[in-house]
Amino acid sequence: MSYRNVSREALVGSLALGVVFVAGYVFGKKKSFRMSISKSHSRGKEDPLMQYVLNHSLREHPVLKNLRLRTMQDTWNIMMVACEQAQFMANLAKLIQAKKALEIGVYTGYNTLSMALALPEDGVIVACDISEEYTNIGKPFWKEAGVEHKIDLRIQPAINTLDDLLSSGQAETFDFIFIDADKVNYDNYYEKSLLLLRKGGIIAIDNVLWGGRVLNPSPNDADTVAIDKLNKKLHKDIRVTLSMLTVGDGLTLAVKL
Ligand code: SAM
Ligand code: CA
Repeated sequence: MSYRNVSREALVGSLALGVVFVAGYVFGKKKSFRMSISKSHSRGKEDPLMQYVLNHSLREHPVLKNLRLRTMQDTWNIMMVACEQAQFMANLAKLIQAKKALEIGVYTGYNTLSMALALPEDGVIVACDISEEYTNIGKPFWKEAGVEHKIDLRIQPAINTLDDLLSSGQAETFDFIFIDADKVNYDNYYEKSLLLLRKGGIIAIDNVLWGGRVLNPSPNDADTVAIDKLNKKLHKDIRVTLSMLTVGDGLTLAVKL
């Protein structure tokens, strides 16, 4: 299959940076940015071993594939999760027999659909986003795949949804939580997710390498600073067991003790 890896929305953190990035990509004037996007969009083509991995492991549901192709037509398609990462997280959810999931940052809902397909018939995924424009792209595909009844989409700032879930008595009831929205709020999302998660449940945090910028965070770059700070905090957090994986743009898995 042709591979469009869109896991790195790392450059979407600030509008200014995004404008520079897109301009660089389109006009070829910012070589390093161009290399960054070309890697994240077609790693399979550039890396035969990665292509081998995809050719020999990706089992994409036909409706997921169609949603991916539709998402590729959107200007911000770089924000979409990598398909092999979505498959990995769906496998993890199955492994722990997850019934109740939460996704913070939905975009067009590729991962939401992947997770909904992995959940049992009476499972649910609470999907948080502020954009109806993005999530409306995914909705027809959720329906076509026959899983829309498992998806509880909440359009408002994710912090409010997490507070709503907590105040409605849903603490310690979630099995799997994927954090993938605005990076400056990552620590808030993590703390509230930890309250919502059951013991043995998994929090997956995306973009923890942020295109490599965590190696040298600029104090003016709030997104990188927030991600790096959370990475350092998690390393010492005895409330969870921890793995930081180099899949996609970096994925941290924290299992609640
Ligand atoms: N997880 C998605 C996937 O599988 O393709 C990608 C999510 S995308 C990287 C980030 C999303 O977070 C965007 O759709 C954006 O609208 C949303 N977002 C940004 N700020 C938010 C906030 N404060 N609350 C909820 N969603 C937010
Ligand atoms: Ca992401």
